[in-house]
Amino acid sequence: MDKFYVLIIANKQEDNCDLILINRGDPMAFEAFWRKLGDKCTMVISGSDLMSYLSDMGNVCWFLVPELAEAINNLHHGVDNAVSDGRHIVIGTGSTQLYQAALYALSSPGGPEPISVVSAAPYYSQYPAETDYLRSGLYKWDGDANTFDKNNGAYIEVINSPNNPDGTIREAVLAKVNRSAEGKLIHDLAYYWPQYTPITGAADHDIMLFTLSKCTGHAGSRIGWALVKDTEVARKMTRFIELGSIGVSKESQLRAAKILGIVCDDYPNFFEYGRRLMSERWNMLRQVIRQSGVFGLPEYPLEYCNFTGKFTNSHPGFAWLESKEDEDCEKLLRAERIMARGGRRFGADAKYARVSMLSREEIFNIFLERLSAIQGGSISNGKHLGS
Ligand code: PMP
Repeated sequence: MDKFYVLIIANKQEDNCDLILINRGDPMAFEAFWRKLGDKCTMVISGSDLMSYLSDMGNVCWFLVPELAEAINNLHHGVDNAVSDGRHIVIGTGSTQLYQAALYALSSPGGPEPISVVSAAPYYSQYPAETDYLRSGLYKWDGDANTFDKNNGAYIEVINSPNNPDGTIREAVLAKVNRSAEGKLIHDLAYYWPQYTPITGAADHDIMLFTLSKCTGHAGSRIGWALVKDTEVARKMTRFIELGSIGVSKESQLRAAKILGIVCDDYPNFFEYGRRLMSERWNMLRQVIRQSGVFGLPEYPLEYCNFTGKFTNSHPGFAWLESKEDEDCEKLLRAERIMARGGRRFGADAKYARVSMLSREEIFNIFLERLSAIQGGSISNGKHLGS
């Protein structure tokens, strides 16, 4: 191979090694809390345990382990962020699987045209790909709910509140515009927990999605749950998961039950820890942003949190940075070896980029250090020139 070419590859690898990857929302920030608990969350599973496919045949979601159903109900009773009484719990391999199950349930048996799926921009960057990657005949991604023009046709609107990427509290957009439209709603409430946002009331929607990933940080267990009002919808969601994976790992469900049990037994310890951590990180970030003068950040209103009994701001899991000079924000950060996710992926302008606030402490500190090195000026060929 050409020597010059080898050199370029080596440099590229070196460059990439030094990049800090905060473009994803891997929730490692809470690891220190769980480590401190030592063996309190340890589980022992013997070779003869959990062998059957079946869990609770009396339940619509027959593969839901009863211990987890109880833990989820206790959690929602304790935090009071969602109505779970009288709702079906459908468990999924992450809320990613439940999002697809919900699309299937709301669109089947299907008509001549796929039903439009929309969400107000900036929307969670995975929704378009998750909706379209199988090219379903039942539904298709149709972009920003604000510009959706088939006001009288059928649609599914996904409402993510607090919203990933910008942390805003949201309501359905289309239902407000046209109440007669045949709209169905999915509420993705992955971040409606006290460490991220004030809990202002118990959400009560037809389909509400939650995930252990963002609630406690245990993304690797791949446990999500849906609270579903309608029995037929819950049945169809269950069927979707049955066809895709014949249920959800019982080991994961029991671990989730154990972890949620600890959270509930020890109120408000975990959420208080998370809230303080997120609040400290946001304070540090805002200070760096103020000093650099290059970026803008959303402001969040002070609201009364029913859970903490205090007035608090939101401290979202992501920061939605805006370049004040309308530069390509992802490139601006990349030049300082910060890997963010650019605004276009969220249906927004390239002057925005999303960075995770949930990384491990070392990574977060390096992020702040590098961010503070960006002090005005412009970028050229991906390199920031400084002022
Ligand atoms: N919804 C939103 C808004 C998210 O940010 C995420 C994770 N990044 C998910 C759903 C999926 O979560 P999981 O599949 O880990 O449960």
